[in-house]
This record gives sequence, structure tokens and C-alpha cells, in this order.
Amino acid sequence: MTDTSSYPATSWYAATVDPPPRFAALDGDTTADVAILGGGFTGLSAALYLAEAGRDVVLLEAERVGWGASGRNGGQLHSGQRRDVDWLEARFGLDEAKRLWTLAEEAKTALHDIIKRHEIACDYRAGLIHAVHKQRFLAEEAAYVDKLRVRYDYPHVETLDRDAVEAALGTDAYHGGWRDRGAGHLHPLKLALGMARAAAAAGARLHEASPVVALGDDGHPALVTRKGRVRAETVVLAGNGYLDGLMPDVEARVMPINNYVLTTEPIGAGRTGGLLAAGEAASDSRFVVHYWRPTPDGRLLFGGGETFSRRDPRDVKAFVRRHMLTIYPQLADARIDYAWGGTLAITRHRLPYIRKLASGVYAACGYSGHGVGTAPFAGRVLAEAINGNPARLDAFAQFPCPAFPGGRWLRAPTLAAAMTWYALRDRL
Ligand SMILES: Cc1cc2nc3c(=O)[nH]c(=O)nc-3n(C[C@H](O)[C@H](O)[C@H](O)COP(=O)(O)OP(=O)(O)OC[C@H]3O[C@@H](n4cnc5c(N)ncnc54)[C@H](O)[C@@H]3O)c2cc1C
Repeated sequence: MTDTSSYPATSWYAATVDPPPRFAALDGDTTADVAILGGGFTGLSAALYLAEAGRDVVLLEAERVGWGASGRNGGQLHSGQRRDVDWLEARFGLDEAKRLWTLAEEAKTALHDIIKRHEIACDYRAGLIHAVHKQRFLAEEAAYVDKLRVRYDYPHVETLDRDAVEAALGTDAYHGGWRDRGAGHLHPLKLALGMARAAAAAGARLHEASPVVALGDDGHPALVTRKGRVRAETVVLAGNGYLDGLMPDVEARVMPINNYVLTTEPIGAGRTGGLLAAGEAASDSRFVVHYWRPTPDGRLLFGGGETFSRRDPRDVKAFVRRHMLTIYPQLADARIDYAWGGTLAITRHRLPYIRKLASGVYAACGYSGHGVGTAPFAGRVLAEAINGNPARLDAFAQFPCPAFPGGRWLRAPTLAAAMTWYALRDRL
């Protein structure tokens, strides 16, 4: 059978990587210490750390490595967890909030370490502006910056007034904001491909075009495809928003949602005098967030808009452009060269779902839009647990992760109704 899987042709990321050689599909039966489902940041990172620790690893990817959210996202590396420290303190107390903050800082450090150690040229640039779209949020955001500096000992943030935000972003759409020099942005598909190369070089066996159709073989942990099977001591599920029908208990707790991105023609973004003059990324305070950044070739890469079914909007360019023009009306005449979507997974509490599900079965997913830092870290956390040190896994797994109301079939309409209400609130 010919392998027809490929990266989305409408993606600027796919257009700006050297087409990587394919990893052959799984053909026949084999064994491994660890079998991993999914070749995104989570699965590739788990494969890399496990192979470096001397474990025999097989990874099965349904399409191409980095084909999922990892090769399509906004490329923004945020600080902290998806939930801010105010929310974490109120729910879990100061000590736990600090622990989760520390884990997120470890995630950033680990990612920079992977990039450096494996010489992954993925265009990392420091700097992320949080832009505030409501006057009434400003005092709260300023207090938040102070809290990060003082209570969390994080000196890389500063409050920006309206003029400073306008100078940094090239739009007067915001009332103020803050800068995080410890956050940044990168080319996520280059990162995923670099991680795949590193994992393969460390000895992991990667197979593309190998969709897993069943788990387990005679009660033994295994990943089964139509052309073969991998029996292993341990199985890792890293299919995130694309895991479809294989593990109902996991899928009840994470909800796939689609998000969309475009890039303009080159407009000098990220250069002095253009939009985002210092080359920083930005995201805003809306519940359905807008996020954007310059590319090295001077385009604006802009993300915004969500859908909840498997079907994408008919015209993705128009769908995202509408959001972009609310921030940058001056781009009304800019050509849109690329637009694409991808599926991520959210949890109800927006904390990651990193778990040992049963003896020899692990899963990590549900990073809720925060996966550039968290997903590669989750791979490391799984690798540590599989190698006998579950301390970091336990730090995440201690928080119960409730199922979405409505179960697998009704959760999308229920969530869509709730999100429509929040999107409306963004405009009030
Ligand atoms: C449009 C968009 C913008 C985003 N922007 C940001 C951002 O700016 N910053 C941020 O931090 N996060 C962002 N995210 C989220 C981030 O991309 C994800 O959290 C992260 O990439 C998840 O990585 P993963 O490896 O768990 O999942 P994925 O990268 O989705 O990988 C899962 C893989 O599993 C494979 N798979 C699924 N089922 C099977 C099967 N049965 N057999 C074999 N393989 C299978 C899929 O083909 C897929 O390649 C964004 C996501 C999207 C979609």
C-alpha cells in the first residue's frame, strides 16, 4: 500500500521545512520495552528520553511525525501552567501553586536543553507580550506581574502601559499589558522533526503511516496496527486530540477542539518599524484567545477562532482573517498566503492529564493550549515514571481530572454552548 500521509499543504510550517525522509511503516510483529502511540511532542520526547536511558522503544505514528498539533500550533512557549497562579493558589494553596510553577519552569529549561543538546534549529526567539483587551482587567494584571516577581521569584516580567504595548505590537487595540522575557516562540514543526531525528539517533524505532487500531494482545500491553503489532512491557498513549475511540476512559476526560492559524504575505513583521518591532510574540486576555508572532521571513503568523466538531470551516483563511483584522485593520489588503487548523485537547480543569492508567499503561494529553512547553515535558515525566521515578508524574496525577459532561458523544455540543457564552463575554 502506498503511504500517502503528508503534512498539510496549506501550512506555512510545512512549506518551510526540508521534507524529512519517511520512517517506514510498521510491517510485522516485534517486541520492545516501551511502545508509544503518537509522534507529537509528547510521544517523541518520551521516545527520546527513554532511548537515551537505554530502553528499547518503538513509536507508532498514524501519519507523519509532527503531523498533529505539534507541527501546526502557534509556536508560543508560555510560562507557568495553563491556569494562572491566582487560580492555582485558590484551588490548591500556595505550596502546590508554587510546585506547579516550578514544574513549568523545569519544562522550559528541559525544552531549551533538548534544543541545545540536539542542535535543533527551530528559530527560538525570547519575548512574549500579554495584551489586555479590557480596561477593567489592568489593575488585576499589574498585581499579577508583581506577584510573579515577588512571590514566585520570577524577575522576567514587567508591566506595560498602553503606549508601550502599542509600540511593541503596532496596534492600539489594547489598554495595556505585560512582557515576559522568559517566554518566547519557535517553529514547532522544526522542533518536532528535530526531536524525531534525535530519538531515532538515540536508538528509538519510529514508524510513520502506522495507525494503531487496538491496544493489548491477549491481555498483554501491545499496540496493534493492520500490518503488525508491538508487544511491550509498557505502552504509552500520546495521541492527544487525535486519539479517537481507543481509550474511552482517557477520551472522556479530554475534549478535542480545533484552532486555526494563518500567515500573511511577508510584510516586514518582526523588524524595526514593522509590527512586533522587537520580534516578540503576543497573546491577549480574551477567553477565546488571539495569539500572533512574526516569522523569520517577515510574515505575521496569527491564530484565533475555535471549532468543536471534526469539520473545519469551509474557508479557513477568511475564518482567521476576520479575527486578525479586529487587531490589525491596517492589514486589510495583505495577502493571506497560508491558513490551516489543528486539533488540541483540553481538560475540564485545564491542567494536563498525565497518568499511569494501569500496570504497564501510561497516558499524557490535555495540555489545554499550553503544550509547546508542557507536552515535551510530559514525555520526560512519563519516561522518568517508566524508569522507576514517578515523583513528577505523581505531582500532576494527584489532581483528579473530571470527565466532561455528556461523555464522548455529547461533550462537544455541551462545550460548544459553554464556549459561545464565553466568546460573547469577551465582547462585553
Ligand atoms: C492551532 C493550534 C495552535 C496551538 N498553539 C499553541 C501555542 O501557541 N502554544 C502552546 O503551548 N500550545 C499550543 N497548541 C497546543 C499544542 O500544539 C499541543 O498541546 C501539543 O502539540 C500536543 O502534543 P502531543 O504530542 O500531545 O499531540 P499531537 O502533536 O497532536 O500528536 C499526537 C499524534 O498522535 C497521532 N495519533 C493519534 N491517534 C493515533 C493512532 N491511533 N495511531 C497512531 N498515531 C496516532 C496523531 O497522528 C498525532 O500526530 C496549539 C494547538 C493547535 C492545534
